[in-house]
Amino acid sequence: MPKISIIVSCYNEEKAIPLFYQEVEKNIKDFENTEFEYIFVNDGSSDNTLSVIKDLKSKDNKVKYVSFSRNFGKEAAIYAGLEHATGDYITLMDADLQDPPHLLKDMYKAITEEGYDAVGTRRVSRKGEPVIRSFFARMFYKIINKMSKIEMVDGARDYVLMTRQVANAILSLKEYNRYTKGLFSFVGFKVKWLEYENVQRVAGETKWSFWKLFIYALEGITAFSTKPLIFSSFIGLLFCLIAFLLILLIIIKTLLLGDPTSGWPSLVCIIFMVSGVQLFSIGIIGQYLSKTYLEVKHRPIYIVKEENMD
Ligand code: UDP
Ligand code: MG
Repeated sequence: MPKISIIVSCYNEEKAIPLFYQEVEKNIKDFENTEFEYIFVNDGSSDNTLSVIKDLKSKDNKVKYVSFSRNFGKEAAIYAGLEHATGDYITLMDADLQDPPHLLKDMYKAITEEGYDAVGTRRVSRKGEPVIRSFFARMFYKIINKMSKIEMVDGARDYVLMTRQVANAILSLKEYNRYTKGLFSFVGFKVKWLEYENVQRVAGETKWSFWKLFIYALEGITAFSTKPLIFSSFIGLLFCLIAFLLILLIIIKTLLLGDPTSGWPSLVCIIFMVSGVQLFSIGIIGQYLSKTYLEVKHRPIYIVKEENMD
């Protein structure tokens, strides 16, 4: 019998988990001849998430869990879930029901009947989201798709159903800075995209502030493109060229008109601008260097405090 693993990353989701479980149970009843397992990954929650999960486990032995020693982030939780999953098909879901479980059926069909290796989902609307956030999200996808060879789908969720083969491919990417959406595109395979309207979370609140999302976006860019480095070299060259032309201009001007002592305000402006560009470029290099630094340390992606996979 084929088995589907449902990986649920949870960070302070005590209110959402029971609702999530109920809703998913309702939806997986329609699957015939399929086995299920839940893998709840407790990402260092500070509320009662773990005891809520243990409670579910005592009632339903499809439920398994891994609990981290602290908050390692959703990307680490997904990685841990993939490592622990034993299913032939694996899906990643948020605990807040923003990933509609009723899509599972179509996703499963696309893989088993239409020959796809993975099915991804994307939100076609961003209803209920702050306007500024939507704007920046759109900009981010435009920029990253220009800068990276890997295509990132606008509105793509982490909610995917994949075969064991795709999951193993993602697991084989052992990098420390994990940008899951990018990794999913990177491994390739035949992917079908399902679209749906944005859904609000059922309970609790989002863990992503604007600032956190901004940092995450930068992470996505540095993880999947080295174009910013080329950008600083380009600006550097451009400035050399401008400087060369200006030197010529000044020499000619001095020869023709003599040398009146003027021009210090423009000099100040130039110094400001050039040093700004230099700092900006060093910043970009620093970003890559810091990522490299973290990668070469080979720190574990997550640390488990307790788990129950029986
Ligand atoms: N999450 C996690 N670790 C974190 C932050 C979030 O495991 O450090 C989980 C969270 O519990 C939820 C999912 O990731 O199941 C998505 O988080 P959230 O709903 O806050 O993000 P949003 O949907 O607002 O983008
Ligand atoms: Mg959410």
